[in-house]
Amino acid sequence: MSNSRKPYQLVSREWQKSDTIININGTEVGKDILLIAGPCAVENEDQIYTITEFLKKKGIRFLRGGAYKPRTSPYSFQGLKTEGLQLLRKAADDHNMSVVSEIMSIDKIEEFDEYVDILQIGTRNMQNYPLLKAVSKIKKPVLLKRGMSSTVEEWLLAAEYIVSSGNSQVILCERGIRTFETATRNTVDIAAIPLVKQLSHLPIILDPSQGTGNRDLIEPLSLAGLAAGADGLIIEVHNQPEEALSDGEQSVYLDQFENMLPKFRQQANFRGKKLAINTNAKSTSL
Ligand code: PEP
Ligand code: MN
Repeated sequence: MSNSRKPYQLVSREWQKSDTIININGTEVGKDILLIAGPCAVENEDQIYTITEFLKKKGIRFLRGGAYKPRTSPYSFQGLKTEGLQLLRKAADDHNMSVVSEIMSIDKIEEFDEYVDILQIGTRNMQNYPLLKAVSKIKKPVLLKRGMSSTVEEWLLAAEYIVSSGNSQVILCERGIRTFETATRNTVDIAAIPLVKQLSHLPIILDPSQGTGNRDLIEPLSLAGLAAGADGLIIEVHNQPEEALSDGEQSVYLDQFENMLPKFRQQANFRGKKLAINTNAKSTSL
């Protein structure tokens, strides 16, 4: 298809032939394989410190954690809000890590600017156009999840909103879409990864956690995503998944996560890439 038939421009491969590389606190996203890990939600100081200490030892540089949670039920845990962001920032700073967290509304932009390194826009807000335009104001990288019922074209147009509003630092994230299949939480569209790499110069990562809803599927889906050309992974990790206040079933145990890392490294090496993790971290041979 020629460029003229595509409704998006700035994010298209025709517009920019070379891959976009986003330098985030020294990590080159789009070049090295980005690994983001952490709990679905920040729950308390003990929880976030236990998980952060573990991730730091494994060399992980990016800590995820929801503070404002978009829960399907209004009766489910909604997140610790400002306190959650503060805990996340403190845990990350104490371990020299960067913070990824989901922003749900425009009125929280200053707060996120203060505490967060990468602003996540969740699947439910992919088409919240005022929010897409507003996050451009603070010039921080945006992790744009694919809408659960959005086509690749709609997703790239959502990215176009952010880029055309003045923020070119967009990382796309495939996190599964709604299909007739209910055996997994969502259906991971692996094909979207190499397709998006053809259509766009933006980096794209995979979230196998929301994608499958099942911790035992995280490793194979992660490897599949990396084999398909993903620029990284965002994985939910919890020290006590059975007690988790959100998404426990899909959160991997700490030792489970640890065992995946050498396989991720192999898969990255196979593509001639390296994992964006600290190799001098204790007890890893990465
Ligand atoms: C999450 O990352 O915890 C999350 C809610 O993601 P998504 O928007 O993809 O459902
Ligand atoms: Mn989650």
